[in-house]
Amino acid sequence: MFNLNNILRENIKKLVPYSSARDEYKGTEGIFLDANENAFGSPVDMEVEGEELKLNRYPDTLQIAVKEKLSKIKGLPIENIFLGNGSDEAIDIIFRAFCNPGKDNVIVCPPTYGMYQVAANINDVEIIKVPLIAETFELNTDAVLKTANVNTKLIFVCSPNNPTGTEVNLESVKKLLENFNGIVVVDEAYINFARYRTFIPELLNYPNLVILQTLSKAWGLAGLRVGMAFASRDIIDIFNKIKPPYNISLVSQKLASGALDNITQVNDWTKQIVSGREKLSTEISKLPFVIKVYPSEASFILVKTTDGKSVYNHLVKNQIVTRDRSSVELCEGCLRITIGTPEENMEVLKSLKEYK
Ligand SMILES: *Cc1c(COP(=O)(O)O)cnc(C)c1O
Repeated sequence: MFNLNNILRENIKKLVPYSSARDEYKGTEGIFLDANENAFGSPVDMEVEGEELKLNRYPDTLQIAVKEKLSKIKGLPIENIFLGNGSDEAIDIIFRAFCNPGKDNVIVCPPTYGMYQVAANINDVEIIKVPLIAETFELNTDAVLKTANVNTKLIFVCSPNNPTGTEVNLESVKKLLENFNGIVVVDEAYINFARYRTFIPELLNYPNLVILQTLSKAWGLAGLRVGMAFASRDIIDIFNKIKPPYNISLVSQKLASGALDNITQVNDWTKQIVSGREKLSTEISKLPFVIKVYPSEASFILVKTTDGKSVYNHLVKNQIVTRDRSSVELCEGCLRITIGTPEENMEVLKSLKEYK
């Protein structure tokens, strides 16, 4: 049985979080001389949607306004939502909550997103690799469960997966959640582009599930650095205890709030990216040096060629930058190509047709 107390680090269990000045006084009116801010103002001004930002003041530590909007979109109470400085911050906080450096380990399923490994290395946590099944890129669920030992705290599942674009099926993840007593992290950075549904409804069934999403991809806000984690209230409370108190800037909070009102635009772009993906996949798979284009549920395609490095260099000569994944395990000869605007996709195709 999963028991949160059994897998939390002792120091985190005992942690008394930083209490900020604004935690104690909840009012918005008054003379604020509690946080050593500059009461005169700030030397730059910024207006977002008609509102002058008070940049001289510290921002809301729990980002309630942003979470209230997310709560409506995701159908989740705000108590189940954590916001990080990109989902990369959430990944780091997950390590710090559960993994004892030099003792615990985590399982990742390569080829996958590189930050899990980097965050593990930074936190001095052993990383155990259980590769996806070659060519289909399906999760090797039985091997993952067999590999997990008493010191395994986290299993990372990326769905749709970067760089393969494949989705991990619901049943495999349920099997992990039911047979593993640590945390299963499902990274849904690309969920907006998938035909499949989010795992969010499963939060009600699984106390050991953490879901990651981000405003960096479909939402078009990679520069803003806002990522989300969804989990049980107990897990979110722990993440909030660990995070730096003001981890999301006032500017990011206001801009994220504004963006979340504009879901129609995002849905429209998402549709265009998905249709661009299907068109580009069809066209690229006809090229003589292309062995295969893997089916993708994400905003990129993984293209297996006869010589990845050389195709990559050819594209760079035309000032088209893609991601060379040819040296990655199970991705021999592969390039990962992000879907651009229709014009950009045309340019990629044109350039690829000129490759000899
Ligand atoms: C891009 C990406 C992220 C997002 O990271 P941010 O820090 O939110 O920009 C997370 N996971 C995967 C798999 C990604 O590809």
